Amino acid sequence: MPELPEVETVCRGLQELCAKRSISGLSVLWHKSFPGDPAATLAKLAGKTIRTVGRRGKLIIINLEGGLHLAIHLKMTGQLVFADPASGAHFGAGHPNDSLVDSLPDRSTRVIFELGSARLYFNDQRKFGYILLLDSAALEQLPFLQNLGPEPFDPLLDDQTFAKRMRRRKGTSVKAALLDQTVIAGVGNIYADECLWGAQLHPARLVATLNDADFARILAALRQVLQLSIDQGGSSSRNYVNAEGKRGAYLDFAAVFQRQGKPCRTCNDTIIKTRVAGRGTHLCPSCQILV
Ligand SMILES: [Zn+2]
Repeated sequence: MPELPEVETVCRGLQELCAKRSISGLSVLWHKSFPGDPAATLAKLAGKTIRTVGRRGKLIIINLEGGLHLAIHLKMTGQLVFADPASGAHFGAGHPNDSLVDSLPDRSTRVIFELGSARLYFNDQRKFGYILLLDSAALEQLPFLQNLGPEPFDPLLDDQTFAKRMRRRKGTSVKAALLDQTVIAGVGNIYADECLWGAQLHPARLVATLNDADFARILAALRQVLQLSIDQGGSSSRNYVNAEGKRGAYLDFAAVFQRQGKPCRTCNDTIIKTRVAGRGTHLCPSCQILV
């Protein structure tokens, strides 16, 4: 599932490529991906210029002129791909599969925005993702946004505030608390596992057993791994195809995620995969001891 770094990568790429372009057409190939009457939606969108592309948690928000917003959630398998045959520009980010780099539309394409000579494709193999067209008031009232915890990079999120928020989930495992979007925004399975390895804590540790220093280590490790992934472009077309032209190399930064059976980068013990918080969980049994 695309997580904060992937969503941030989508936003940065689209901001660069789409800002100041106007929407000239819309094709909705799968109705549930963009609910509403497509003709009426296009009537509202036609000619509108894209101002900025940002995000809150994992929700992408394309801000248009006239106080309109496209809210896009990639969910499990969503991705956005920009392609402009006129300039040769091609950029895709989100779920890492061949649709990031192959010619589009393909079988996973659900919605196509026309931006003059360019196209913005919303691909979503499993169809859990969605696009909503909202005015500013409706955007603010989205339950998703109202309940969302702070951004990991929010400068106002200090160690004490983070500890306080995590302690709301005292009775759960530290991994479950990190995955809770109302505690902190944007953390999913990959970065929960990576940051707990960085903080040297077992994912099944109960929040109630952690002290202030533990929470401070978790927040620092979370920021470090998110920044590392953002710097590398998350799962984008740029690193989906690596320098040798091989596909699927996007998790190069990972210390534990999908590295079961391989040696821990700190102690050389073998990384294992287990189950915590109902999710496949990767950890080093020597660095992350369950106490
Ligand atoms: Zn280790």
